[in-house]
Amino acid sequence: MLRLLSDQERVSDDRVCAYIDEHATPALRREAELGEYIFGGVESRRFIRGFAANGWLVPHWPAAYGGLGATAALSYSIREAMSRAGIPHSFCAAHMAGDVLIKYGSPYLREQFLARIARGEIEFAVGYSEPGAGSDMLALRMKAEDCGDHYLVNGQKVFNTHAHQAEYHWLAVRTDSEAPNHKALSILLVDLDSPGVTIRPMITIAGSRTNEVFYVDVRVPKARLVGEPNKGFTYILGQLARERLFPPGQHLRHFDSIVHTVRALPDPAGFRQRLAQSKIELEASRLLYERCATLMDQGKDPDLESSLQKLFMSDCAQKMSRLGLDVSGGAGFGPPREGEEVNSVTKQLANVVLTIYGGASEIQKNIIAQRGMGLPRTR
Ligand SMILES: Cc1cc2nc3c(=O)[nH]c(=O)nc-3n(C[C@H](O)[C@H](O)[C@H](O)COP(=O)(O)OP(=O)(O)OC[C@H]3O[C@@H](n4cnc5c(N)ncnc54)[C@H](O)[C@@H]3O)c2cc1C
Repeated sequence: MLRLLSDQERVSDDRVCAYIDEHATPALRREAELGEYIFGGVESRRFIRGFAANGWLVPHWPAAYGGLGATAALSYSIREAMSRAGIPHSFCAAHMAGDVLIKYGSPYLREQFLARIARGEIEFAVGYSEPGAGSDMLALRMKAEDCGDHYLVNGQKVFNTHAHQAEYHWLAVRTDSEAPNHKALSILLVDLDSPGVTIRPMITIAGSRTNEVFYVDVRVPKARLVGEPNKGFTYILGQLARERLFPPGQHLRHFDSIVHTVRALPDPAGFRQRLAQSKIELEASRLLYERCATLMDQGKDPDLESSLQKLFMSDCAQKMSRLGLDVSGGAGFGPPREGEEVNSVTKQLANVVLTIYGGASEIQKNIIAQRGMGLPRTR
C-alpha cells in the first residue's frame, strides 16, 4: 500500500488486496511470471473480469470512462498490490496508452476503446521497435500512406511483445517522409487480425515470447489515428513515461523468497551484506514509484522521474536475481521450489530484459542527463 493514500483510499486498497488473495490462483501467478507480468493470457483475462468490474483497473479515470474518479495514488497502489501478489500488473491499454487516449484521442476513439479497456476486455500491444530502430525509435520506417479515408501501412516491427495476445496494435508509423523525424510520426490503433498483418514468434532466452509483426498493404481507417497526424512522438512519450514505471512489488516478493531461503542455510552470514543492500534499494525504488504517483496527481507526466525509477528498479532487480541464484546454489538450476513459479536461473534471465525494454538503461541515463541536467543530446 502506498503511504500517500487517504483513509478512505486505504479501505479500497484493503478490499483490493482481499480480492486478490481470494481469487489469484497458482496458474495465474505462473502465467504472469512466464509472460513478464503483462496482461493478455487466458488466466489473467479470467481473473480480470471480476477485478475490473469494481473499477480497480483504472480507478483514476473519470467514471464516464469506467474509472472511479479516484487519485493516481490509488491506481498506483492497486498496481503495486497486483505486482506484490505476483499477478499481471503491466497493462499497455489500461496503465500506459489509455491516459494518452483520454488526453488526445478523438471522441470516437474514446467511445470505442476506453470503457472496454476499463472492463479488461481488450488489450494493446506496443508497436515501436523495428530492425534498425530500437533505442533510436525516431528512425522507424514503417510507412503509412495517406489514401483519403484510410492509411495503407507497410513495414516490419520487431520485439512486439504479446502482439499474439492483444486485440489492437498501438502502432508507431511514419506519415511524413520529408519532415524531421520528431514531426513525421503518428500513432494508429490497428486491429491485429486485419488482413495483411502477420505475427511471428520470437522466443527469448528466458522462455517468454515476443514477436515480429509484418504489415503488407494493411488498410487502417483514418478514424483510428490517435490525436493529430505527425504528432505521434508526443503520444509515444506519454505512453513510455507510464511504461517505465515499474511497481516494485514483484521484486519485494522475490526478495522475501530469497530471505526465506537464506534463513534456512546452515551459514547465512555470507549473504547479509547483499541482502541489506537489496533491502535499501527496494525501499528507494518504492519512494521513486510513489513520487511518480504524486506528480500524476499534480497533473504532470512523470517523464524524467519514471526514467529514474526504471533505471534504479531494473538495476536493483538484476542484482537481486543474481543474489537469488547464488543463494540457491545447484537448486537454482532444477525445478522451481515450493512458492516459486520459475527456478533462479530463469528468474535471472527474465530480469535482464527489464534493463532493455521500454528503453535500455543507457537511454534512461541519456534522458536523465539531458532533461534532468540540461546536458546536450548524444545524437
Ligand atoms: C524481450 C523484449 C521485449 C520487448 N518488447 C517490446 C515491445 O513490446 N514493443 C516494442 O516496440 N519494443 C519492444 N522491445 C524492444 C526494446 O524496446 C528495444 O530492444 C530497446 O529499445 C533497445 O533497442 P535495440 O534492441 O534495437 O538495441 P540498440 O538500440 O541497437 O542498442 C544496442 C546497445 O547500444 C546502446 N545504445 C544505443 N543507443 C545509445 C545511445 N544513444 N547512448 C548510449 N547507448 C546507446 C543500448 O543501450 C544497447 O545497450 C522489447 C525488447 C525485448 C528484448
